[in-house]
Amino acid sequence: MLPANSKLMTATESVELTLIIPCYNEAAVLPALEARLRDCLERLAKSWEVVFVDDGSTDTTFEQLRKMHVAEPRFKVISLSRNFGHQAALCAGLSRARGGAVGVLDADLQDPPELFRDCLAKLQEGYDVVYAVRHHRKENVAKRACYTAFYRLLRLVSEVDIPLDSGDFCLMRRRVVDVLAAMPERNVFWRGMRAWTGFRQVGIEYDRDARAAGDTKYSLRRLIGLAGDGVFAFSVLPLRMATFVGLAGLLLSGAAGIFVLGWRLLGFRFMGHTASELPGWAGVVCLVLFLSGTQFLMLGCLGEYVGRIYREVKQRPRWIAREMLGWERETNNPAPGSTYDRDVV
Ligand code: UDP
Ligand code: MG
Repeated sequence: MLPANSKLMTATESVELTLIIPCYNEAAVLPALEARLRDCLERLAKSWEVVFVDDGSTDTTFEQLRKMHVAEPRFKVISLSRNFGHQAALCAGLSRARGGAVGVLDADLQDPPELFRDCLAKLQEGYDVVYAVRHHRKENVAKRACYTAFYRLLRLVSEVDIPLDSGDFCLMRRRVVDVLAAMPERNVFWRGMRAWTGFRQVGIEYDRDARAAGDTKYSLRRLIGLAGDGVFAFSVLPLRMATFVGLAGLLLSGAAGIFVLGWRLLGFRFMGHTASELPGWAGVVCLVLFLSGTQFLMLGCLGEYVGRIYREVKQRPRWIAREMLGWERETNNPAPGSTYDRDVV
């Protein structure tokens, strides 16, 4: 519990703590999640709210969330019009969170909500962002290896110091949330953007549990997409690689030109042949394949950026709400079912 004179809450903020929980087909885990939240929230803060973002679930997630909201109005729900993806669901939650401190966690209880107790203590010490660093992961070896490699690659190429092995699980002070909520980009990679904001940030280690129930909602394709957003949104190194490879190729071809000229004019033997015997077709083919492969790779990199720029200029909303439970009185929304909200920047 925060002390009464907590600096986390100012007059404009009506709750001490907001937790944002994106849920996509999480019906199996919601009862356990509700029990864990009820158990720890009262002890965490005097006033709190939980913003569940139903990311276009096709199971009974929304119905269950509605029941939870009816039983406990501080459980609020934004139900998106379709599956917009985890990062977009977080956009929706961040835009509505009112707490002086705002926490983000997954629905599957891989991120223990009890850890916010330590996070709140860190905020009291003066930190603005407390992110959780995964010490041990109880996931399969291949997934763990991919994550480890990804975070190290990202650190290598990123222009921002993105902490290793830290996901979206974190607690942020209001002013950081305000900055994040005002960021207009469409390709969001929150853990990178959070690091980008600066302020005083600190990591705390935790053991990441296995999923409490249900299956992962991050398919390999989605994970690759997320990794792409991380790399291409925080680095221009892939573009620069084209320059490096181009320069190296140029130097190499200059040297090869001089060599071939000398070979011809001086008539010496190279690998058992004189230049006039014109050997080395295999070498030429390899070189052409290598260079055209490199060109395609660079074109692909260019395409990644162009595609992202294209998405940005369209300025489409990042999410659209089909229904919102818990904001009726504040926004004078019409009857449930006809509520329409969207991310307008
Ligand atoms: N999630 C979401 N939309 C999606 C995919 C996932 O809101 O399109 C949520 C999901 O319900 C969970 C969190 O994002 O609360 C993390 O997903 P998951 O646990 O499946 O990912 P993993 O931990 O396996 O990487
Ligand atoms: Mg998970």
